[in-house]
Amino acid sequence: MQYSHLQDLNQAQLRAVEHDPNIPLQILAGPGSGKTKVLTTRIAHLISQRSIEPSSICAVTFTNKAANEMRERLSKLIGMETTSLIRMGTFHALCAMFLRRHANLVKLNGNFTVCDSDESKKIVSKLLKAHRVKLATKAITLREEAVLSLISKAKSKGHSPDDVLDMLEDPSKRRKAQKKADIGSISALIDQTIATLYRDYERTLRDNNSLDFDDLLIYGVRLFRDHRKVGKWCKHILVDEFQDTNTMQYELMQHIAAANRCVTIVGDPDQSIYGWRSAEVENLQRMRQDFPSTIQILLEHNYRSTGSILAASVAIVAQDKSRIPKTLHTQHAIGPNPTLQAFPSEYEEATFIATEIKRLLAATGDMLKWSDFAVLLRYNSLSRAIESALQQQGIPNRVLGGHKFFERSEVKDILAYMQVIDNPQFIPAFSRAVNTPSRGIGEKTISEMLTRAATLNLSPLEVAERIYDEQMPDIKPPVRRKLKSFIEPIKNLRKLANNGELPSNLIRTLLDLIHYENHLKKTQPDADSRWDNVQELINFAREFEVNESSNLQLPESPLPGERVAGENDWEDHPDEFDHNAFDEDGIAEIKPGANSKLASHRDTPLRLFLQASMLSTDVQTQDSRADNNKVTITTCHAAKGLEWPVVFVPAVEKGTFPSSRAEDVEEERRLLYVACTRAQGLLYLSHSTGRMVSGETKPQEISEFIWVVKRSTPGLFSATPPNLSREDRTLLASVLHRDAPDEAKVSQRLEEHYRTAGQTSWSSRPGGSTNRYRQPPSNLYFGSRTRHQPHA
Ligand code: ATP
Ligand code: MG
Repeated sequence: MQYSHLQDLNQAQLRAVEHDPNIPLQILAGPGSGKTKVLTTRIAHLISQRSIEPSSICAVTFTNKAANEMRERLSKLIGMETTSLIRMGTFHALCAMFLRRHANLVKLNGNFTVCDSDESKKIVSKLLKAHRVKLATKAITLREEAVLSLISKAKSKGHSPDDVLDMLEDPSKRRKAQKKADIGSISALIDQTIATLYRDYERTLRDNNSLDFDDLLIYGVRLFRDHRKVGKWCKHILVDEFQDTNTMQYELMQHIAAANRCVTIVGDPDQSIYGWRSAEVENLQRMRQDFPSTIQILLEHNYRSTGSILAASVAIVAQDKSRIPKTLHTQHAIGPNPTLQAFPSEYEEATFIATEIKRLLAATGDMLKWSDFAVLLRYNSLSRAIESALQQQGIPNRVLGGHKFFERSEVKDILAYMQVIDNPQFIPAFSRAVNTPSRGIGEKTISEMLTRAATLNLSPLEVAERIYDEQMPDIKPPVRRKLKSFIEPIKNLRKLANNGELPSNLIRTLLDLIHYENHLKKTQPDADSRWDNVQELINFAREFEVNESSNLQLPESPLPGERVAGENDWEDHPDEFDHNAFDEDGIAEIKPGANSKLASHRDTPLRLFLQASMLSTDVQTQDSRADNNKVTITTCHAAKGLEWPVVFVPAVEKGTFPSSRAEDVEEERRLLYVACTRAQGLLYLSHSTGRMVSGETKPQEISEFIWVVKRSTPGLFSATPPNLSREDRTLLASVLHRDAPDEAKVSQRLEEHYRTAGQTSWSSRPGGSTNRYRQPPSNLYFGSRTRHQPHA
């Protein structure tokens, strides 16, 4: 690593980067203080200065997007090749990676399928049917989502179905569990039903050779806890956004770190926003107890935002009286105040955002791009008005984490085939693929095949194959004929996949074999856009193949000098198998050449691709397209850890922020704090006095989070948008580390902008640009139709 990378850092950051790797470290600091930057630089430092093998470093990020960003930053520091060796990703992705390699140690099959929430819902829905009558007698209806959320809660706390059933039977334990809200307490019947559903749900997952997201953590913990050797290769673990880890994630970190006790975490208690998903901010304290030598380093300089954005954000979060006050200075000038405005409806609010984005773009010359703007929402469902306003004004935009790409039915169709090829036991994939495109195989036939699979202890695919091969003569010949167009493509594809064919080619072949484009054209009115999505899936596969090319070429071992015996290694290749290379745990120090051929029979590119797609729920595939220059619309939760030059937070209203459904108001306040602190140069908060709710326009009030601040600290917000004086533009350029705009060019762009919009020139107005908060021409802000009086 070049010395210049360290030169950027302030004293505290430098201390954190160079801190002795053998002493556990907590870096606690506010938003924008360079926590993620320090973590990234520390990884580079461990590799280049402490000679730690890149492949023995585990870096845990909160989202896949964050992992990609970290990868990019590291590539710049230590090169792409070294970066690709680091074990980087979410806790779930890390677990999946290690579990594939060491599946036998925790009694799993290496080809398990990661089951997404949609599939989990289908499983619960089926199981619920058995309880319907019993529940109906008590007039109780249970929703799948509610059941799954309780199951997930129990799982993330490490409670097995037996633990929960046990708690229900023992009155003292039951009371304790109720207090901790581990189990519902509305009625004994509900509790009992959910506990039974939990048990049956787990059984179904195992029968399907599949794991849900919570299982990845549970089995991951088991793997590292019971098999120290696996963790021994991890010489250092680093965790970003530690304040949002849940119990299972904490334990995972603890067991991975147990062997070497080399651990670095960064976090900010003020940004803990996942309590609703069982995150425990107390894990910070727990770590200090479990690793008593832990050193804390605090960072107090904010490098992200202007002074006024930071002041307003801190004023919001400081209303939480239980919070420990902290020091945070910004490196930047004070800058224009954040804007706080009211609009009569969400449409006017959205129109303002679109118009304002265009004005800022024109007023800053070439300094800002579309991708410099973000609209952060409390819920995804608030995005409709914003999306349509941006579209109307021709502003390119993307909704991050909106309608999830991998949940689209055409994408699921293709993935189902791929899953059947990889894991024939996975019933949801089989049930979907066997009659897509429609082959006239009805529910009854599918159900008969599944029953036979269960009684004969076969996979559903094997049953289908036997029917096709006439080994089940009692099944009528038409069924056999109908199965031809399913079994033949599967056979072909399986052969290709076993030979290591790349997923993108497998998908292309599949599309031809099953005439999928025709199927879409015949059955879907929007066939073209669905076909585009299928092509996008191929793009995703291509991207995966390029990014993972080093892993795809070197499949033998995730850990230096080590690999694990696979279930079928011996049967498939008896003469190539060197038993002496493995110890009783199935783990081996690999000798050059020993079992190296076998290695290629594990982790096919297809399996790794399926895993990547199942775990990429937060990655918007459109990102992979060359054109990334788009305004981002996303939720405040998904915006965590990210930053944009200009941020809009609309709908800051009572009932929305805090959400009327939220259990913890303080967590909502921190969420607003997280949203506001994403802004580097300009921040716009707004609310509307009327909003359409369930088809009716209802009056809305401003969020108490804001009016309390406004009342106690007047002057933090401005009622009108900044006029973007020359001084503002220079500040913006310095915050964004970009060149100050060329003034002549800016004036020219502005002139053009106003001329095309049929408006008078702003720069020629009397008063020039010296008065920072002068009210600019109203129609620039609110369009030509209406003019709204900003909320004073
Ligand atoms: P969050 O809590 O929101 O995740 P963070 O503490 O992780 O924030 P980073 O994202 O690492 O903060 O950094 C915020 C911004 O500040 C980034 O653009 C980063 O490059 C910049 N930055 C951090 N430290 C420095 C520094 N010493 N000099 C210049 N810029 C810095
Ligand atoms: Mg960060």
